[in-house]
Amino acid sequence: MKMDGSRWQVMLERAFLRSKRALLVLGAGCMVTAVTSAQADIEKHASAAIVRLSNYLQIDTVNPPGNESRGVEYLGTLLAAAGIPFETVESAPGRGNLWARLEGSPDAEGNKQPGLILLHHIDVVPANRAFWSFEPLSGDVKNGFVYGRGAIDTKGLGIAQLQAFIALAESGQKLNRDVLLLATADEEAGGFYGAGWLIENRAELFDGMGYVLNEGGSGRAFGDDIAVMVEVTQKVPLWLRLTATGRPGHGSAPQTQTSVTQLVRGLKRVSETEFPVNVIDPVARMFEGLAPYQNGKHRSAYANLQQAVQDTNYLLEMKLINPAGHALLRNTCSITVLEGSPKINVVPAQAHAELDCRLLPDQDPQEFKAELARIINDPTIEMSEIMSFSPAVSRTDTPLFKVLERISDQEFSAPVIPTVAGGFTDSHFFRDIGITSYGYSPFAYAPGEFVGVHGNDERLSTATLVRGVGVLYQVLENFTVQN
Ligand SMILES: [Zn+2]
Repeated sequence: MKMDGSRWQVMLERAFLRSKRALLVLGAGCMVTAVTSAQADIEKHASAAIVRLSNYLQIDTVNPPGNESRGVEYLGTLLAAAGIPFETVESAPGRGNLWARLEGSPDAEGNKQPGLILLHHIDVVPANRAFWSFEPLSGDVKNGFVYGRGAIDTKGLGIAQLQAFIALAESGQKLNRDVLLLATADEEAGGFYGAGWLIENRAELFDGMGYVLNEGGSGRAFGDDIAVMVEVTQKVPLWLRLTATGRPGHGSAPQTQTSVTQLVRGLKRVSETEFPVNVIDPVARMFEGLAPYQNGKHRSAYANLQQAVQDTNYLLEMKLINPAGHALLRNTCSITVLEGSPKINVVPAQAHAELDCRLLPDQDPQEFKAELARIINDPTIEMSEIMSFSPAVSRTDTPLFKVLERISDQEFSAPVIPTVAGGFTDSHFFRDIGITSYGYSPFAYAPGEFVGVHGNDERLSTATLVRGVGVLYQVLENFTVQN
């Protein structure tokens, strides 16, 4: 390619300006601190997050079946390019998990602080193309957004964690604790091939670990104000299968009682039951924190939830307009699966139902099952557990929570509100082994941006992503760098 003289001139000038700028940066770095170069680096890592998320979204890790090893391979190439060693393991064929560790150093007294885990899951839930306006695995970057299943849940978080982690490694700063980057399989189906499997089979990974930052909370814009929500506990799933057994027969000759009639009667009693309202402390604190962002009567009701729930009309209104919020006030059971005869003229010997019950974290699951059996009031209906977790709450009086408060104030002028999740994440596995786990994404979602979780047209704004890398880097520097 031929260039004319003036073009050359421009290029030379630019090159000169670049070298001069580099000298200025170097000079400042030498005279002031090394922070300048670390900040320059974080900008580089933050903007690289966009294309990396786009690539990650194009990798099919839809669960089922998961195929998380494909995602592991991709994350591995990024860590390798940064010169950071990592390890991987498959819990089953195709079900890959990956981790990388930055080692902390002991302080003058020989103590190392409890380690920090940055956790995200590689798998995503299926997407129904018919309801999407673009290809769910396209990874398209346009109009200021990265599009694709998993952009919010949780590949966007995973890339933000990765970029901040790489920047921390490259900064070369001495750490006061280990930092473990962890990417797992199977969260969307319960985590038994991912976080749960690692805790069972690679327990040594978590020796000396004290904290987890995982999905489940983030900044949210309420009008012009932002509040950062940090999930500290979640309702506990208790998934049950009910089986009624009776005499089979022909549809043309009805009997007074069959497996189906028994099951239907039992289920009717369950569906008509409202479990008692129980405002636990973390829920009361969450509503109180959200009160300033509410309108009208909700503002005072949220500020004093204990009192507001005495009013049955308010409770009913809440169930109608905010079922997810209402679900935090009591134990619940949804009847979700029904199985009877596969044939219309056959009365089956057995009929089944499945109940998705969600318990408040102060509820003993065994006591709840006994209560449910009393409600069903039919000893011939058998109840078996499909899945049950143990309840746990993470404390907020920790050094990490203080750092999250400080950085949220500094970056977003936002308060931190500890929250309770109605659904569950992998955090419960870590809370079970005594590790403080916070649902925390460094993102501050604009109104409307957050609708994409498990929904259609999932996307993350590039501005939110880029800024999130910088915010998480601040958290890491504040919490893990030795001073
Ligand atoms: Zn998720």
